[in-house]
Amino acid sequence: MPELPEVETVKRGLNKIVANLNVNRVQIHQPQLRYKFLPSFSKKITKAGKIKKVSRRAKYLIFEFEYLNLLNHLGMTGNWKLKPQSYQLEKHDHIEFTLSNKKRLIYNDPRRFGWLEVIESQDGYFENKKHGPEPLSKAFQHENFYKLLKTKNAPIKSVIMDQKNVLGVGNIYACESLFRSGIRPTRKANKVTKKENELLVKEIKSVLKEAIKAGGSTIKDFKKAGGESGYFQTKLNVYGRKDQACQVCSTQIKNIKITGRSSFYCPNCQQ
Ligand SMILES: [Zn+2]
Repeated sequence: MPELPEVETVKRGLNKIVANLNVNRVQIHQPQLRYKFLPSFSKKITKAGKIKKVSRRAKYLIFEFEYLNLLNHLGMTGNWKLKPQSYQLEKHDHIEFTLSNKKRLIYNDPRRFGWLEVIESQDGYFENKKHGPEPLSKAFQHENFYKLLKTKNAPIKSVIMDQKNVLGVGNIYACESLFRSGIRPTRKANKVTKKENELLVKEIKSVLKEAIKAGGSTIKDFKKAGGESGYFQTKLNVYGRKDQACQVCSTQIKNIKITGRSSFYCPNCQQ
């Protein structure tokens, strides 16, 4: 499943290929993704003016047209690709934009959990979602986060994965940032010390930035942008390493379930 760093990488890839172009034609090859397309969808997009840029909030991509915003969530397997006019459609190519440079921007999504929706204003839409701050923004800072942790009795890992507290820190990045901060994922959030919290906030940001950098630097073929999310895995300390030796202290990495999600940690490095 694409997590925040992968979505950021897709965003950067898209910006290189769609900025300042119009969508001249929309073809919907599969009317039912996670949601059905509204009948007005195609007309709205072709009359929306130029795509100024593509931005991201949490794991949402936002195509910012001159006159409207198109929201896209990649779901489990969503992916964009740019193809020439001669391209033959492949399986799971669900929606197609013909850009004003005649190239075809195609959304492919085998599992169809992704979706696209026209929204009036970003602020209106995201305010209703009760989202926490974007982790890479200045709004996510340790003083505020510490105050929040003091009010939470849940395991720290569940707290950092809850979108209401901070946006888009997926399972891999939660496990890794907790390892780097020396905090066991099961620890109650209100038992995390001020100093540990300061380190945790810093490590959440670092781990995401490193993943974005790794994704960004390995992607040559744009098709890979949303399709392959394995590029960060060589650097993982605990995630997916059950029973393997901790790279710091050689203790066996443990894997337990916390709110239904696999949680990897080193019982020696993380207290
Ligand atoms: Zn260890």
